Amino acid sequence: MVDLVEMANELVELRLSEALERQRQQGSLPMVSAEFCEDCDEPIPEPRRVAVPGVQTCIECQGRREVRRA
Ligand SMILES: [Zn+2]
Repeated sequence: MVDLVEMANELVELRLSEALERQRQQGSLPMVSAEFCEDCDEPIPEPRRVAVPGVQTCIECQGRREVRRA
């Protein structure tokens, strides 16, 4: 049986970390989203650039950065 509470909690955590990430980027980086990833030079998809103001990396490199930071 699928634990719905568990799933809901995971969703909330995801949203929260996304919001925190956005706030952190707004505080420390210029609000201009990069067109190309800072790490791998791949183009950053437009939806991601809109969703994450000031984004400098693609999703994959962002994930790698998070891992490194942890
Ligand atoms: Zn990248």
